[in-house]
Amino acid sequence: MAMNVQPIPSLSDRINQVRMSTAAIVNEDILPNETKLWRFHAADGSVDEEKKAASVELREQIKAKVREAGLWAPHLPEEYGGSNLGFLEHAYMNEILAYSIGAASLFGVVAPNSGNQKILVKYGTEEQKKKWLIPLVEGKMESGFSMTEPDSAGSDPRSIKTTARKEGDEWVINGHKWFTSNGWRADFFIVMCRTDDPEGPAEKNGKMTQIIVPKDTPGVNILRGVPIWGRPSSDHCEIKYEDVRVPAENQLGRTGSGHAAAQDRLGAGRVYHCMNSVGQMWRSFDLMVQRLRTREVHGGLLADKQFMQGFVADSYIDIQTSRLLTIQTAEKMDSGADARTDISALKVYVPEAYHRVVDRAIQVWGAAGVSGDLPLAGYYQGARTLRLADGPDEVHKILIAKNVLKHYSDGLGWDFGN
Ligand SMILES: Cc1cc2nc3c(=O)[nH]c(=O)nc-3n(C[C@H](O)[C@H](O)[C@H](O)COP(=O)(O)OP(=O)(O)OC[C@H]3O[C@@H](n4cnc5c(N)ncnc54)[C@H](O)[C@@H]3O)c2cc1C
Repeated sequence: MAMNVQPIPSLSDRINQVRMSTAAIVNEDILPNETKLWRFHAADGSVDEEKKAASVELREQIKAKVREAGLWAPHLPEEYGGSNLGFLEHAYMNEILAYSIGAASLFGVVAPNSGNQKILVKYGTEEQKKKWLIPLVEGKMESGFSMTEPDSAGSDPRSIKTTARKEGDEWVINGHKWFTSNGWRADFFIVMCRTDDPEGPAEKNGKMTQIIVPKDTPGVNILRGVPIWGRPSSDHCEIKYEDVRVPAENQLGRTGSGHAAAQDRLGAGRVYHCMNSVGQMWRSFDLMVQRLRTREVHGGLLADKQFMQGFVADSYIDIQTSRLLTIQTAEKMDSGADARTDISALKVYVPEAYHRVVDRAIQVWGAAGVSGDLPLAGYYQGARTLRLADGPDEVHKILIAKNVLKHYSDGLGWDFGN
């Protein structure tokens, strides 16, 4: 089923042009080919090499079309091969991309590579950009972001234990990470390390540094792909860094800038993830309504049952509220205003709303809803995971309350128009 995307009169011509050209490629080239693009397994689960080769060729053809349309790598400046979209333009694009499975990767914007690219653009030296950023943008390399640890709280990143100590012109890294996404495929990791001097002044946010570590460096030991959601393995890897030596020039930004760099990465990432969720909510919604209009139960169409009509109304409200919150936040970020409270608000609200919408769509589809024939089961796991990843709900709620209360204690109310 194709997406119904029309120009929105209140938006600028540029945003409508991005929306319409993105939708044209997704509707014509990606949605009808989802099976060919991503499923090249035989009925017994083994890889069908012929189908796999055909899928790789098709992906390259679509990527060429995306580049030709000037839509490749929307998050990056043109000088690094991107199409340099603002937050709002990118948010609208993501809503459309996320409707189709894997479309984002065909537009050159897929986590964790996209976040790493942004960090390299902002903090990388010219040499680092040449060595790591350009091959990453061109799709010749893959990367991971290695921050979370099994033995310290990911929701309090200032508690990380992995250390980097300077020895001559090298950094020596020791630590234990897990949930480093893309771990098996990555050619290098950006590793968050503690570089504070225990004897030095205590600066709360200046104790960490991000360091580029090529995966083939001795001492980078991938222990396993952490099994998630009942699967025996995954691409979210557990890694031990044991006396890993990398040149001092692999440091990203100045010593102690690691926390700020992580916040830069995650702030924008949260908006993009939430707009992806909106796109996936629309797909779930379309699937739900399609089923309601065709499935007969107990002598009538599901669409005629009031329980089911409640699902439609509640889902519509969930999607539109999520969408407006995300769009408003992206607009604020484009204007340069402080959007931290809004980012936390959408990071709590949208995954929960997404979870509710997918849950209803699964219910409507019955057994088929949890099967691999529809994207809903995968969405369900994704929605639940989002409530933990990029900061759990509770941490964001604490931030919202802190920021709001501070406004009041500063003698200001909350600015309703803001
Ligand atoms: C699929 C997936 C992919 C991921 N990819 C990456 C990646 O590529 N790189 C990476 O570095 N990490 C990654 N992560 C890790 C993710 O960012 C962390 O799981 C997240 O930050 C939470 O950290 P934690 O798991 O250590 O939970 P903890 O910090 O132990 O928190 C556990 C729970 O405690 C509660 N809590 C926390 N703080 C408070 C508080 N102040 N008050 C009340 N309750 C609180 C919350 O409910 C929270 O869920 C990924 C995670 C998943 C699931």
